[in-house]
Amino acid sequence: EPERPETRARAEIDLAALRANVRALRERVAPGGARLMAVVKADAYGHGAVPCARAALEAGASWLGTATPFEALALRAAGIDAPLLSWLWTPGGPFRAAVEAGIDIGVSGLWALDAVVEAARAAGRPARVQLKADTGLGRNGCLADDWPRLVGEALKAQADGHLRVTGLWSHFACADEPGHPSIGAQLSRFHDMLEYAEKAGAEPEVRHMANSPATLTLPETHFDLVRTGVAMYGISPSPELGTPADFGLRPVMRLSAAVASVKQAPAGLGVSYGHHYVTGRETHLALVPLGYADGVPRHASGGPVLLGGAVRTVAGRVAMDQFVLDLGDDKAEPGDRAVLFGPGDDGEPTAEDWARAAGTIAYEIVTRVGSRVPRVHL
Ligand code: PLP
Repeated sequence: EPERPETRARAEIDLAALRANVRALRERVAPGGARLMAVVKADAYGHGAVPCARAALEAGASWLGTATPFEALALRAAGIDAPLLSWLWTPGGPFRAAVEAGIDIGVSGLWALDAVVEAARAAGRPARVQLKADTGLGRNGCLADDWPRLVGEALKAQADGHLRVTGLWSHFACADEPGHPSIGAQLSRFHDMLEYAEKAGAEPEVRHMANSPATLTLPETHFDLVRTGVAMYGISPSPELGTPADFGLRPVMRLSAAVASVKQAPAGLGVSYGHHYVTGRETHLALVPLGYADGVPRHASGGPVLLGGAVRTVAGRVAMDQFVLDLGDDKAEPGDRAVLFGPGDDGEPTAEDWARAAGTIAYEIVTRVGSRVPRVHL
């Protein structure tokens, strides 16, 4: 059998776990009647956009969400025709293609509204537009002072037949920090901005604001739809909120690699670039063929890896393609499987453990797994 790249390293994606996570999240929001948007931007947080989108829809997600329109068009090209919102546009973006593909366009300002109207004219059909309010994130979205103008122009274009305002929505800044004062302030501003738009005549199909932390902990923010990303992949939005298991979620990605070589090394051997690690005694060193090009954070020396039934830590610098584990008296063979992270059932670390070692969040750990690592969907 020919050697396949998965034998070096692979990210196994447990689609059954993803489906179970979607079902658990749907149950959480069901009492209020909200539906679920599966956020599959950034290649589904590194998990593979098309298979994850399909699995989420099978498990009852009603909508898909992406940041860029190119991500949305790629889903359509794969034959996925579910309702789909894309929110991060730049001038010259594929507005006409999005209108033709029935993609909802997130609009935060007047330039985008003009581009939508022009695209709808060219396409000969109305665009679907979801107006985004900046209720206090200070990022994308329309601030309250500019809202009346944006709403007014959008409703004028709707009356002219160029578009339909299908959604009104916003995004939280600090939903992962329980009790943060901005949460209530954003929610109250969203109510005001909704009220303004609806009094002006908007009749949106969906109003939405909740990301994963809000979906898990703030039912009053669920409205008609919740936009869940990280929780769907079985990752807690923040260790402060709880573990994935606390919310009935199971991590979906398992990253592993085959040991490339093992050698007996003397005491005093400097390991990897910069010699930030020096063997304290005679020992066994195992070489793992994953590096920062594969998304293993370079500064996470000390990152945990399960090999041969024990969790070891990265010795010295992570290089572009490889890093070293110091096994001490333990032995390993080339081809043995080193597991960087997974659900944790077999004693392997989790993406959260790597996030702690690297001083970042688990979102970044899974999303940055590089394109050189094959995703194997189970
Ligand atoms: N909605 C928007 C606009 C986003 O940018 C994101 C991701 O950052 C999400 C929803 C999903 O967030 P989370 O992964 O915390 O569920």
